[in-house]
Amino acid sequence: MAELPAHVAAALWRLPAPACAYLYDTTALLTQVARLRACLPSRTTLLYAVKANGHPAVVHTLAATCDGLEVASGGELELAVRAGARRIVFGGPGKTDGELIAAAKAGAVLNVESLFEARRLAGLGFRGGICLRINRNDVAVTGSHAMTGTPTPFGIDENQLASVLAELPEGLDVIGFHLHAVSNNLDGAAHAEFLTEAICWSIRTASRYGVNLRVVNAGGGLGVDYTSHASIDVAPLSQVVVPDGIELVLEPGRYLAADAGYYAAEVLDLKTTHGRTFAVLRGGTHHFRLPAAWGYSHPFTILPVDAWDRPYPRPSVTDTPVDAVGELCTPRDVLTRGQHVAHLRVGDLLVFGRTGAYGWDISHHDFLRHPAPHFILL
Ligand SMILES: *Cc1c(COP(=O)(O)O)cnc(C)c1O
Repeated sequence: MAELPAHVAAALWRLPAPACAYLYDTTALLTQVARLRACLPSRTTLLYAVKANGHPAVVHTLAATCDGLEVASGGELELAVRAGARRIVFGGPGKTDGELIAAAKAGAVLNVESLFEARRLAGLGFRGGICLRINRNDVAVTGSHAMTGTPTPFGIDENQLASVLAELPEGLDVIGFHLHAVSNNLDGAAHAEFLTEAICWSIRTASRYGVNLRVVNAGGGLGVDYTSHASIDVAPLSQVVVPDGIELVLEPGRYLAADAGYYAAEVLDLKTTHGRTFAVLRGGTHHFRLPAAWGYSHPFTILPVDAWDRPYPRPSVTDTPVDAVGELCTPRDVLTRGQHVAHLRVGDLLVFGRTGAYGWDISHHDFLRHPAPHFILL
């Protein structure tokens, strides 16, 4: 990881000991939205997928700078409404009647994921435009999670689309398709191809079944490479042609939020056992589960803290690989394995960058009942 920005380091240095915090940098959110928008083809709508980071301040900032928000639960819907989102899209395979009613009331566009859900929606009195989420037969795009072209609970099997459309209740107007298919795609040219293909498939399919196509929602999936510091190159997206009369909707989460987040944790102890050196943190995977969930080492930067007022020697290591581990009583509480450090002392902070997406939000906060981190908004 690169040097910490000075304003981030300054804020982390002010933390009370033992330091443990998530910091979200609003300027970084705005920068990333601008970077992506500069490469979006015309007739493209940019939504932020709230599940990546549902902190109200983050949601508020992205509601104001994107065209709207994508939500996947009643809780996220409430956040989106409170954040003043101009447009809301609601997806998810298990929507309750209460969530369907709340979404309709909020004016959200629903991505309907089964015929049964369509019937429930109509049964609740809803009339109007919906998108159908489709699990397509072939999707030539890769990333960390395959969501279509394979058995999943998401959307309607492409092969069942004809019969679903034939049986769709009166009053539901299919305005388009939702085709979210991938997570963490790192290949910009491949993603552009996926978008083009999604548009072509939608036009073809709509004309085959007499659907008046207005929306092609290609979902999220723009990737971040946590171990190399690279991100997907979004420049190729500008080459995608969106035909007149069609709106392309994108709903990235990770790409917009990851770089705005920093997770900082103080080194509580340093020890070497059976030949490996461990930095034990005030924190761990209960705050930042992603490295454990995905099985990779998340790089850190050391924020040195020089003050030491104890009457006994300060543990330190020099020029050695270190495992950054948490405070939980499980050997799986590991954030980083074998990162080389020039010098590290108890009391220094390890700072994990790019933790603004799928960090706190996906972690099992209550396991072992340690206190939550501080949250700092810059
Ligand atoms: C998770 C999700 C997203 C966001 O995905 P990212 O990989 O964070 O860009 C967008 N749309 C849907 C339907 C999702 O489930």
